[in-house]
Amino acid sequence: MTLHRVARFTDVPENQGLEVQIDQRKILLLKVGDQLRAYQGECPHAGAPLAEGALCNGRLTCPWHKAQFRIEDGGLCEPPALDSLKRYPLEVRDGEVWVDDQALRDAHTPPADDARTFVIVGAGAAGTAAASALRELGFGGRVLLIDREAGAGYDRTVLSKFVIAGETPPEEIPALRDDDFYREQRIERINAEVTSLDCANRTLQLSDGQSLQYDAALLATGGAPKQLELPGADLPQVFVLRSRTHAQQILESARPGQHAVIIGDSFIAMESASALRQFGLEVTVLAHQPVPFAKQFGETVGKAILALHQANGVVYRAEGEATQIEGTHKVEAVRLDNGQRLPADLVLVGIGVSPATAPFADLPQEKDHSLRVDGGMRVTDGLWAAGDIATFPLNGQPCRIEHWRLAQQQARIAAANMLGGDEHYLDVPYFWTWHFGKNYDYLGHAQSWDEVEFKGDPFKPPFIGLFGKNGLVIAAVACDEERNMAMLAERMKQPLPVDNAWRLIRDAP
Ligand code: FAD
Repeated sequence: MTLHRVARFTDVPENQGLEVQIDQRKILLLKVGDQLRAYQGECPHAGAPLAEGALCNGRLTCPWHKAQFRIEDGGLCEPPALDSLKRYPLEVRDGEVWVDDQALRDAHTPPADDARTFVIVGAGAAGTAAASALRELGFGGRVLLIDREAGAGYDRTVLSKFVIAGETPPEEIPALRDDDFYREQRIERINAEVTSLDCANRTLQLSDGQSLQYDAALLATGGAPKQLELPGADLPQVFVLRSRTHAQQILESARPGQHAVIIGDSFIAMESASALRQFGLEVTVLAHQPVPFAKQFGETVGKAILALHQANGVVYRAEGEATQIEGTHKVEAVRLDNGQRLPADLVLVGIGVSPATAPFADLPQEKDHSLRVDGGMRVTDGLWAAGDIATFPLNGQPCRIEHWRLAQQQARIAAANMLGGDEHYLDVPYFWTWHFGKNYDYLGHAQSWDEVEFKGDPFKPPFIGLFGKNGLVIAAVACDEERNMAMLAERMKQPLPVDNAWRLIRDAP
């Protein structure tokens, strides 16, 4: 144990964290009242500087992807982090703050004292978060985590941002959990496809012939990209992007200078346009709507993101529908219904996903093939669902939302309820999207609004926009306004009048 003098007590502000360093290690000092605490300085999720987060309602919210931790003990409250913050012992002597360079050890593995078997199908955002949460909550029984993709679950959100941009090689995408974690926590990974479910007998059938009995199961199989149904759609250079393998296939085909046609204007389509442009391709987006993301972000922000793409050389076309992919052995062009022909070396289809629920055909399914869950993410006795396959009640309305953090939140709720809890989703949905080096943050899930107001200019970030309905904030969109969005992530959990929100933003540290 070695104590290091890191700051004067009076240097630590009351309403925001202070980052200090011991050697190269970043440490966060948090002062609330007279209480001072020291935690790791970077978010365990993606390394964000936590001193730039927001302190509110006893929680610290990460500035980048809105993970939340209890100020009192650093305990994990909300993903996308999957771990609590490491705590460092400290002393205050003569007005100086001294912090130990050794973090307290508090990781533990629950003893194997439970005869039950819990099965999780899908080791993506939701599945991996659920497996972690079961152990965090003290479950000592067997945890089986099944996925048809080889290897541990990984962060698929980087595929369209950094992997197909050539920045992160597919094999270097970090695992959500490393092998030591699975071993220490006795989480058994099975690489197989689940082919059917018999929920009356609590049995799952796997593609390798195995049949597994469970006491409780979580279905978290995510989305399957919608495919084009056009002549030529089966040519080898027509891609979708959902998995590491898809990204590898795109990278094996793409060469700088080639023409890529992206069909669709979804978040994945537009992020891929940005990434492939960065990789050096000529990119045309064949869109359905004149302004991308107008439905989610409103016209102004949609136009600003469109202008960013155009300024970086993306050609965005909202007229004409693809009728054929031309080429004999390889893609040569995309033919449109207005007779035009767009030369193409590769085509990336980004027209949305369908819930991957084919193996669960015996369960009642919604029109979009998702599974309807109650507020506690329960499908039926002994069975839960989370993530992209789940239609859940949000403010009383059935809703299916495809966001990384939400999938993990739902999974943590399901895990608690599999253990007999009674947890419900009470948060504000959040997602982020990345275009040409700019990260756009969105809070809420607004279908319509009666006012929208900006601080800053969406065409020249930083900016933050608030969407109001009946005087209350129902959504917020921003770029480079991380602390304010972190603050709103917590504040918007309660009804927040628009005027109050602007006051909080004005008064923010
Ligand atoms: P997934 O993470 O897809 O996990 C499902 C897992 O189930 C997969 O590993 C799959 O192999 C496995 N599986 C499926 N069927 C079976 C079966 N029958 N048997 C065994 N295993 C099976 N969201 C954001 O909020 N921000 C972003 O920036 C963002 N970017 C994205 C970029 C890309 C390229 C993609 C594809 C998605 C992005 N998303 C983003 C959406 C986000 O990734 C999803 O909402 C989230 O992954 C959903 O989690 P999930 O656990 O439901 O599904």
